[in-house]
Amino acid sequence: LPSRLPNVGTTIFTVMSRLAAEHGAINLSQGFPDFSPSPRLLERVTHHMAAGANQYPPMAGVASLREAIAEKVARLYLANYDPETEVTVTAGATQAIYTAIAACVRPGDEVIVFAPVYDSYVPGIELNGGHAVHAHLRFPEFKPDWDEVRALITPRTRMIIINSPHNPSGSVWSAADMAMLETLVRDTKIVVVSDEVYEHVVFDQQDGGSLRHESVTRYPGLRERSFVVSSFGKTYHVTGWKVAYCLAPRALMGEFRKAHQFIVFTVHHPAQLALADFMREHPEFADTLASFYQAKRDFFRQQLEGSRFVLLPCAGTYFQLATYAAISDEPDTSFVQRLTKQHGVAAIPVSAFNPDGDDQRVIRFCFAKNEATLAAAGERLRAL
Ligand code: PMP
Ligand code: GLN
Repeated sequence: LPSRLPNVGTTIFTVMSRLAAEHGAINLSQGFPDFSPSPRLLERVTHHMAAGANQYPPMAGVASLREAIAEKVARLYLANYDPETEVTVTAGATQAIYTAIAACVRPGDEVIVFAPVYDSYVPGIELNGGHAVHAHLRFPEFKPDWDEVRALITPRTRMIIINSPHNPSGSVWSAADMAMLETLVRDTKIVVVSDEVYEHVVFDQQDGGSLRHESVTRYPGLRERSFVVSSFGKTYHVTGWKVAYCLAPRALMGEFRKAHQFIVFTVHHPAQLALADFMREHPEFADTLASFYQAKRDFFRQQLEGSRFVLLPCAGTYFQLATYAAISDEPDTSFVQRLTKQHGVAAIPVSAFNPDGDDQRVIRFCFAKNEATLAAAGERLRAL
């Protein structure tokens, strides 16, 4: 059978986590916390299981969770979404993004993505017959080049997928970037998918408040044409639950739900109820995430002081990029293999996020880890 995805192998996250396990390495590759979620959140899941929430919940998600999501978005971004018709709970951000693509992209449509690009977007586009068109976030700043984006837009452009705070670079788009995007799509039929899974992880906000998360929901000209995706996995330290959500204006959400109901239909019932309870009880939890991860970022950067890695700026997400030119001139894919096997620390080669495998000799470390893990990794990395 001819492959629908001839150029796709196994995702780099699976490859590197497996290699880390095989070699007993400290796994700073795939992005997930090595610490526990709130005991209260866990208690709510078992509570709802015992109380009988073990059958299908409503297709779009349980009402209390959709309401809690709409309240959060209204509080943070002053944007109103109707929980009944404009909020859908999904099986992770991955499914939300895939579903938005499936609902909108027809064979031959072009979809603009920004490289380095999160690995699920392009296969999702191609499975639906679309063509991915790459704009570039260029090393070392990883900022959008709006002249390039403008030049890439054609009458066939159906969608633009954006991601800020950005995985893997940790760069964060500014209000000026959002205004540029808003201007570029005005008077077009382009739909935006905004991957905001790290919406709560923007750093250095206290320094004059210059940086904040620029959700598309803040920009009316974007909001009206956007699917906005966030993930409870990132916010509540439960990546394995695969519960996330999508927001969109009613007409777009109607199309999204047509696809959603046949891709997954609905999502884990007790986890949804637990998240709804926890969001109600602890609305402040998400607001503390930035300082929580900023302390981890700073701790990890400190660990690498005196090493031969050069650290790039990290304005958001729980990923730190580093160059290793002083250590080796190997390609990043072989460097991470050797780092894992010989030095006991696993990382992600950033070339895995580039369409042509473009390699700047940069690797990504995940610092969503206990200090003990980061300290142990730091010791090994300083020895290189
Ligand atoms: N988008 C980005 C940018 C991510 O980093 C991730 C996961 N780390 C996802 C989407 C997928 O999130 P989920 O696990 O909720 O599917
Ligand atoms: N998004 C996570 C990362 O960037 C991994 C998710 C996955 O393994 N699919 O590391």
